[in-house]
Amino acid sequence: MTLDLAQFAADRDIKYFMISFTDLFGGQRAKLVPAQAIAGMQEDGAGFAGFATWLDMTPADPDMLAVPDPDSVIQLPWKPEVAWVAGNCVMEGQDVAQAPRNVLRRLIAEAAQEGLHVKTGVEAEYFLLTPEGDAISDPFDTAEKPCYDQQAVMRRYDVVREVCDYMLDMGWGPYQNDHEDANGQFEMNWEFDDILKTADKHSFFKFMVKSVAEKHGLRATFMPKPIEGLTGNGCHVHISVWDAPGKDTKVNVFAGAGTGQTGEVGLSERGKHFLGGIMKHASALAAITNPTVNSYKRINAPRTMSGATWAPNSVTWTGNNRTHMVRVPGPGRFELRLPDGAANPYLLQAVIIAAGLSGIRTQADPGPRRDIDMYSEGHTITDAPKLPLNMLDALRAYEADPELMAAMGYDFSRSYLKLKHKEWNSFVSHFSRWEKDNTLDI
Ligand code: ADP
Ligand code: MG
Ligand code: MG
Repeated sequence: MTLDLAQFAADRDIKYFMISFTDLFGGQRAKLVPAQAIAGMQEDGAGFAGFATWLDMTPADPDMLAVPDPDSVIQLPWKPEVAWVAGNCVMEGQDVAQAPRNVLRRLIAEAAQEGLHVKTGVEAEYFLLTPEGDAISDPFDTAEKPCYDQQAVMRRYDVVREVCDYMLDMGWGPYQNDHEDANGQFEMNWEFDDILKTADKHSFFKFMVKSVAEKHGLRATFMPKPIEGLTGNGCHVHISVWDAPGKDTKVNVFAGAGTGQTGEVGLSERGKHFLGGIMKHASALAAITNPTVNSYKRINAPRTMSGATWAPNSVTWTGNNRTHMVRVPGPGRFELRLPDGAANPYLLQAVIIAAGLSGIRTQADPGPRRDIDMYSEGHTITDAPKLPLNMLDALRAYEADPELMAAMGYDFSRSYLKLKHKEWNSFVSHFSRWEKDNTLDI
């Protein structure tokens, strides 16, 4: 039965709903709607001028409506008089094909037709910076190897505890928090879920972490490489596929023989084909998983101060070894270590299904499992593609992959490429300090 948002508001003393949608660049856009008006909005949606956001539209286009999906509603734990709800974008009665949550919903339905139900967990790392965003907020957080630093995580206990308490209250099943590999960097983990739920939680997590940090006078960032020379913000995704969604899940379609430690990797035939699809489309899907100019300072990066970037350089997979693009940590799931903190929470999940389904349909072979330390021995592998070196490289790889473009939807792909090329052009036409430093005396 559909949840009645007006009743939900009355039961919980909610005064405002934030009807939210995510644009092509991952920005969350919202209208604050008083609870008195929510009944009408639940029917018709909240109106937006799409062109005013990062969507490929014109000022002359009709209104775009974000119709709230009541299954996604969350009362803000830090401001209980407001509730956040994800909207599905509609224009003149049709789903807007380029809207990221619609792209994901369409792919979920396609997978379901084949009896496949994807579940994922994300590891959305972030930095806590000064409010201006130009330095790590904790001046004592300077260790060369700061990962799991007990003292440093306790100096940010107020922020970390508050966010974790909220996840406990919301029933997300958080299970650990730590100081990560860069100074000023943190990670908080919660249980994996159906892929749309994970995408909504991922969006909400970013909103929540930024809001709580601001409340404490800090600035949280998920930017892929906010500080030169330090490990960047990854957003690893753990992936498994099941016979049914939600609580009806019984069989992990990906589980096969083996432990993931040695010998057989613990993936079924279909699991291997899904992985094969990820491997086959990796360079192209980087345009989605690593979507910004800054993303390419995290992958292909030189060694960081801590000793390793923990980010991949090449399209390779392995067992329980963190130096590759894909790690199979144990039976029945694998970890894609390519995505970064700038990935759009919906497109990130969508492109995983798109590539995975393509792999299953074409019975793609993931290629050999590599059991080496890619950071010290990667040069010995000559038959694995290098990941794109910059955003333009990734956009071109995406354009050169009609199968992935079709799976993501041509309308979406066209719009995404158009806006991203514009962004790249804006970047390269920006006059940089580097040019002056290196060219002035030529
Ligand atoms: P690590 O740092 O070792 O990569 P984390 O514990 O930080 O792992 O994150 C693991 C994520 O993977 C969590 O969100 C967890 O719920 C999720 N996960 C665990 N098992 C599965 C599975 N079978 N399918 C999808 N996600 C899973
Ligand atoms: Mg982790
Ligand atoms: Mg990980």
